[in-house]
Amino acid sequence: MRIELQNIEIEVEKGDISNQADLDAVVNAANAELAPGGGVAGAIHGAAGPKLYEECKPLAPIAPGEAVITRAYGLPNKFVIHTLGPVYGKDKPEEQLLSNCYRNSLKRAEENKLKSVGFPGISTGIFGYPKEDAVDVVFSTLLTEIPQLEHLKKLRFVVFSDEDRELYESKLREVALG
Ligand code: ADP
Repeated sequence: MRIELQNIEIEVEKGDISNQADLDAVVNAANAELAPGGGVAGAIHGAAGPKLYEECKPLAPIAPGEAVITRAYGLPNKFVIHTLGPVYGKDKPEEQLLSNCYRNSLKRAEENKLKSVGFPGISTGIFGYPKEDAVDVVFSTLLTEIPQLEHLKKLRFVVFSDEDRELYESKLREVALG
């Protein structure tokens, strides 16, 4: 699904975040140490290769809500933006921290004049953030950030299941209809 919102293309696609060849950057649902792990971080580090972690080491640790940018090595993108989501029920206020993840990731992309970036569902895996609540945070953050974007023209939400795709698509429709 693709909808244009204030001249920005917003896409929802089912797929693997480590296989988005047409995007300038992908966002990593990182851990504080920016180390390889499970889920998104495992896929990204696996595809990028060990040089990614070497570049990450001196940038770690990061706090919930922060985002840092590195090169992408074996990934088909130019950059990886690593952000640490809140652990649901532990890092508070979780809505604010999750919102900061998206805001700061967009900021890193803009600073580097990127045109397109792909996001996974930060915190909605191992970190346990309920998906419906997370999607609300994603789109409310997006609505406040879109007017500030100068270089970004395409944002893609890469989901892993049909259920998540439907959730994102219905929320995007709602937002697009105002
Ligand atoms: P976190 O630790 O921030 O919760 P996870 O990596 O555990 O992050 O999962 C975040 C979300 O990304 C989950 O909804 C999960 O289903 C999804 N996911 C896991 N692997 C991939 C992948 N390779 N590409 C896209 N989404 C993925």
